Amino acid sequence: MLTRVIPLRAWTADVPSAMRVLPSARERADISEPLPPVDRLGRPLRELRISVIDRCNFRCVYCMPKAIYGRDHVFLPRDKLLGFDEIERAAAAFVALGVRKLRLTGGEPLLRSGIESLIARLAVLRTPDGRPVDLAMTTNGALLGRKAAALRSAGLRRLTVSLDAISDAVFGRMNDVDFPVSRVLEGIEAAIEAGFGPIKVNMVVKRGLNDGEIVPMARWFRQRLGSAAALRFIEYMDVGTSNRWRMDEVVPSPEVIARLRAHFPLEEAAAIDPTATARRYRYLDGLGEVATIASVTAPFCGGCQRARLSADGHLHTCLFSSHGHDLRPWLRTGGQALRAEIAAVWHDRADRYSELRGGAPPEGSRPRVEMHYIGG
Ligand code: SAM
Ligand code: SF4
Ligand code: SF4
Repeated sequence: MLTRVIPLRAWTADVPSAMRVLPSARERADISEPLPPVDRLGRPLRELRISVIDRCNFRCVYCMPKAIYGRDHVFLPRDKLLGFDEIERAAAAFVALGVRKLRLTGGEPLLRSGIESLIARLAVLRTPDGRPVDLAMTTNGALLGRKAAALRSAGLRRLTVSLDAISDAVFGRMNDVDFPVSRVLEGIEAAIEAGFGPIKVNMVVKRGLNDGEIVPMARWFRQRLGSAAALRFIEYMDVGTSNRWRMDEVVPSPEVIARLRAHFPLEEAAAIDPTATARRYRYLDGLGEVATIASVTAPFCGGCQRARLSADGHLHTCLFSSHGHDLRPWLRTGGQALRAEIAAVWHDRADRYSELRGGAPPEGSRPRVEMHYIGG
């Protein structure tokens, strides 16, 4: 168990390369209060995704395929989910250590009862220099129509909605519960009315399943919502093991852009944030923008500043990790001991799975944790 660590900030200032491997936390002396940690590859801790529930009302084929997540699948019992006090303590500790962005996710976060009250508790957190945290959520949108206004008034600042097709037939095959596109679109519209915007819309592209929807999705969103929504095409990833991922089912982002360029005038836009994972493209006729997230073909591990907290309190330092660090013993009380534990785990981090993957999961790689458990 790691409890006390020394911050790396002072001695990473002169590290010539961001990718230099640093000594582990265990090799360093102890001090009582940790400063913002930097991992073994020189990366700070800036973002936290919090999975508030491992259940979902969809069975997306690339995430929770029905063959594995059938009626008899055992999810975490309710009493194993972190309570709101524990989530709030965790969030406060991460923010004290340098996190600026918190994203609530799942499973489907809108299935967690009382989610608005959790948002209200997180919305008042301030970074050490007094700024509000950037509080966001990723949702499948199924319950957004009735919840958008309450989420906004509780203090949620940004929303990402997942939608993989504009045709009901294709979307039904993706979500595998026959959920209609119109209900997700109603949710997006309710969110825009509630004052969220622009809404990010995530489309995971799986070759042979929904790649025929790339152009129809782009057309629908630019014509109907313009710059109120930004469609993002995400490369299908080998998260977990239940989706039986294959490289030939990935549609590389340059191919997505080439397909769009055959129909619409696009120019690449400058990145707003240099560590952003998305590459942005603007429609030259002013009808908004799209983006690609090339996690498979152009990995961004070098700038990865993101931690994930599972629904039952395990800290994961990579989306592709096979195990997490159980924070529950420290979440009961929070405070300095919790901050020191998180900092110690981050100091020891050297993850860069996607850079090592190439066209196939790295040899000898262990079973990876599933996306719905640690959040996308
Ligand atoms: N249920 C919510 C939703 O779908 O928006 C939040 C959780 S979901 C795990 C978060 C994001 O991960 C979604 O945008 C989803 O499309 C994406 N995702 C899930 N499995 C994926 C995979 N194998 N490859 C790429 N993205 C994936
Ligand atoms: Fe549910 Fe989101 Fe996974 Fe789809 S991607 S099964 S909506 S958690
Ligand atoms: Fe970050 Fe791991 Fe993804 Fe690399 S593979 S970008 S380290 S989450």
